[in-house]
Amino acid sequence: MDLLEELGAKSQQRANIGGLNRHHIGGQWVESASGAVFTAINPATGERIADLAEANAAEIDAAVDAARTALESPAWGGMLPNQRGELLWRLADLIDFHRDELARLESLDQGQPVGIAANMSAAGAAAHFRYYAGWTTKLDGRVPSVSRADAMLYTQRIPVGVCGLITPWNFPLLIAAWKLAPALATGNTVVLKPAEQTSLTTLRLMEIMEDAGFPRGVVNVVTGGGSTGRLMVEHPGIDKVSFTGSTAVGRSIVRGAAGNLKRVSLELGGKAASIVCQDADLEKSVPKNIANVTNNSGQVCGALSRFYVHESRYEEFVERSAAILGGLKIGPGLAAGTQMGPLNSEEHLNRVDSLVAGALDAGAQAVVGGGRLGGSLAAGSFYAPTLLTGVEESMDVAREEIFGPVMPVMTYSDEEEVLARVNDSEYGLSASVWTENLGRGHRMAQRISAGAVRVNTVSGLDPAAPWGGLRSSGWGREMGEEALEAYTEVKATWIGLD
Ligand code: NAD
Repeated sequence: MDLLEELGAKSQQRANIGGLNRHHIGGQWVESASGAVFTAINPATGERIADLAEANAAEIDAAVDAARTALESPAWGGMLPNQRGELLWRLADLIDFHRDELARLESLDQGQPVGIAANMSAAGAAAHFRYYAGWTTKLDGRVPSVSRADAMLYTQRIPVGVCGLITPWNFPLLIAAWKLAPALATGNTVVLKPAEQTSLTTLRLMEIMEDAGFPRGVVNVVTGGGSTGRLMVEHPGIDKVSFTGSTAVGRSIVRGAAGNLKRVSLELGGKAASIVCQDADLEKSVPKNIANVTNNSGQVCGALSRFYVHESRYEEFVERSAAILGGLKIGPGLAAGTQMGPLNSEEHLNRVDSLVAGALDAGAQAVVGGGRLGGSLAAGSFYAPTLLTGVEESMDVAREEIFGPVMPVMTYSDEEEVLARVNDSEYGLSASVWTENLGRGHRMAQRISAGAVRVNTVSGLDPAAPWGGLRSSGWGREMGEEALEAYTEVKATWIGLD
């Protein structure tokens, strides 16, 4: 048995949900000191999976202390860049080794089809750790051309310090990796809090990180809800917060971080537009639009959630889209053949439904869907894939983030007009343009005000590709070389030459 198999086998013995109801602080698994717990629910059935520990102020203090000690320890602070790279690479190998198990756990807790959990979440997490493993030995400084004969200057990228990472419930494992990989590659230590709806794969990842050999205290995991997150944001011992979640909470984080002027990165909401031009190839582009809007039941920050179709192609677009949406296989993420799973919670389902109901009340029509699914799916949080016509730009469904499998379809007649409408949004995360005219595609991509624009495609998430938004979609970028900036400070050192 090689080392990888041995480590994997050891970890699998502990892989039971009952063993995941603790915080991980300073290398120890600790039970909730206060006894306070919250419940993880399976969104496909509404059943309880586990009770998890709710962290209080003393536990956040302990996690921050452990992270601070690790930051300055020889084991982590003194670790060489290539050794950090090897550790991150080993973690990626272990995630691959446990991919099926992680995928099942993610599907159970989050609801996503197990194929997405394996190929997007678990495989994507491993890819992020591998990508940033390579960066550990490439964090170079500069020797700026200072106008001094008696001195020279060099700069270095140094870790920000203790990073508080707060993740959402839509892609718990993958988004934890988006944050952990660059934070650790650059030598920081971490207090990580997963969303209260979906903590299980983060806790399991922590076990795998122990097996990979991360020194104690480098990564600490605390579980809990918004109040636990707020304690982290306001903690004077945390130097930086990286948050992915709603715009409303993002705003409160900016206010809460003011105490010690924490560095703050925010990946917030989006309202991605899909612009279907008069010359779009609908046979190719409609299936891509639908795959995007139904991926993870639409609970994707970059999900297309307002559709501007040239008036000459409107009927064809609606007809083709409705035919695909109506034929999707919907069911529990763990059931064979499921293409779309439930929404993550009843609370979230009610939010999606109220946006759709508001549009229907205001005169929109549901060509397919329009409400929750019943029958054998009634106990879970299943929402019908929905296509709305008769949508007005002023409706909430056309302006607010939906985060569900809903397509509000509108028409346009002129390029200038559609660009103005697309850019008139509080959000600026991403958009897609569909056209067979290369010049039009580039021209529109240049003029769309968003962090990422895609021409004739929807995919865009890759460890090498910077991701983040303009305006209320957030601050900073995750992934790519850009994320290294978010987790480092520049230090300048002067050397006298005379
Ligand atoms: P949320 O903002 O309610 O919660 C996100 C996380 O913040 C959770 O861990 C939660 O416990 C914590 N939290 C809640 N209140 C807090 C507070 N006051 N202080 C500190 N932490 C607090 O968001 P959500 O409902 O979990 O996630 C859905 C939202 O996330 C959507 O709006 C979606 O667009 C956004 N999102 C954005 C991206 C992106 O990359 N831009 C990715 C995924 C999700």
